[in-house]
Amino acid sequence: MSWQSFLPGHIYFGNNVIKETPDIFKGLGSKALIVTGQGGSARRIGALDDICQALQQVKMKWEVFDQVEANPSIATVRAGAKLAQSCGADFIIAIGGGSPMDAAKAIAVLALNDITDDEMLKLQFKEVLPLVAVPTTAGTGSEVTAAAVITFPEREAKLGFRDNKLLPWLAILDPAYTSSMPWQITADTAVDAYSHAVESYLSVIATPISEMHARAAMEILGAQLEMLTRSREISMESREALLLGSLLAGMAISETRVTVPHFLGYSFTIYKDIPHGRANGMIMPAFLDFNLKKCDNPKVKQVFEYSGFGNLQQLSDVLGTLCGPPPVCTEAEFVHFIDKTMPEKALANNLITPTREDLSEILKKTLQ
Ligand code: NAP
Ligand code: ZN
Repeated sequence: MSWQSFLPGHIYFGNNVIKETPDIFKGLGSKALIVTGQGGSARRIGALDDICQALQQVKMKWEVFDQVEANPSIATVRAGAKLAQSCGADFIIAIGGGSPMDAAKAIAVLALNDITDDEMLKLQFKEVLPLVAVPTTAGTGSEVTAAAVITFPEREAKLGFRDNKLLPWLAILDPAYTSSMPWQITADTAVDAYSHAVESYLSVIATPISEMHARAAMEILGAQLEMLTRSREISMESREALLLGSLLAGMAISETRVTVPHFLGYSFTIYKDIPHGRANGMIMPAFLDFNLKKCDNPKVKQVFEYSGFGNLQQLSDVLGTLCGPPPVCTEAEFVHFIDKTMPEKALANNLITPTREDLSEILKKTLQ
């Protein structure tokens, strides 16, 4: 067996890490564009203040772009890139969940490359601005992945692109920044991280390194998902575990990418307004059932073992409690969702490549 691994940049993890490491941004540039979500959580939780103070201490300048919506659109990304150019930013700091972090990656590309949307998606760009990522949700792992997922409303599509140039140079994970997440966002994002771990573990392009990360993430996150079904109060220990699990799952998908739950789930997000992680969690039981029935690889059963769930029913019960009922879909929507998902080449990364009939079966079971 031969494989390669490209591990990400410098990772800082811990409470108050920015305050305690004031020169953390030294050497990255002279002016930062700080990219945050439009809901203002980066400000409310103090992350924006901590970062501005650290930049001030090392005499760096900054500008704030706080317009990123959930599932960031290409129009928002282009507005951010324009601001990066006009203010002369030479590096980008993203604060937020996957939406600001992914938007920041695309902004880092478009700030230095005058290219069309398709050219960006086909990776026809040269240099990109250096990136720093400060996650405030514990879910996407985007702080250590080379991927960005952007929404193209006129194409009715969430499209990802992936290039090692998009790997953040610096990932700063402070569990305290995630403590303001309400229970529902905590659950949605934890389920997203768990999906990353499972989809990566069951990938044909998994490597020994990605498998170790995915297994550790399943062990940590399986216990935390179960905890979330019992308690609306989330301790700091759990916040730390969720952020670590999300980081490890991010490292896993950075090598393998994601598969069926994500690509089917994008339709739930685009057409039914279901948050990203929750959409994955709704599809996960039917996806695992498909793998159990069609694939005799022992890795499928190991998912339950490592996650601490005795069997598929236990896992389905936990995800059902966290994610709630699936959306109601018409026959035409059902066909449309399958049509949208089928062209995705990365579906073939699952241990068994699903046919159109398999995908239909997974979706049918999900919607029951
Ligand atoms: P998100 O869309 O970034 O944020 C969801 C909501 O949570 C927003 O309203 C946000 O408010 C709020 N929020 C964030 N941090 C908070 C905090 N600490 N306290 C209170 N509220 C907070 O959600 P996400 O699930 O993290 O990211 C989803 C996106 O990431 C999707 O577009 C998905 O496709 C993408 N994704 C990317 C990768 C990758 O590898 N690149 C992997 C998986 C998913 P604000 O508006 O204030 O920020
Ligand atoms: Zn995801």
